[in-house]
Amino acid sequence: MQCDRCQENIKNNEERDFHGQTLCEDCYMVALSPAKACDPWAVHSAKSFSEKSKRKIDLTQTQAKILKFLKESKGAEPEVISDRIQISLPDLEREIATLRHMEKVRAKLQEGKKIICLW
Ligand SMILES: [Zn+2]
Repeated sequence: MQCDRCQENIKNNEERDFHGQTLCEDCYMVALSPAKACDPWAVHSAKSFSEKSKRKIDLTQTQAKILKFLKESKGAEPEVISDRIQISLPDLEREIATLRHMEKVRAKLQEGKKIICLW
């Protein structure tokens, strides 16, 4: 049995039927869920979202704490900030990403270390 898309040989019982086409497992998965990256609407809405959040000045409590700490410390490593603000590093990275979109903070390299500081 051959896949109608990629012409690969399909092992017995692994062929999938997709609208009358015989597909291998891989092509079947692709056919079911087309790559989201190629979706112009997904890109568009992500872009307009970040433009919206850039204009919006409403900060969460955590974001306000980060900005306050950065103002006092004149920039700090992410590990130091997460320790001081008492949130996990992944959470902090998310907040920093949001704040960067708003152009509130930026990252810079200082003596080979990543430092987050006010914009
Ligand atoms: Zn295939």
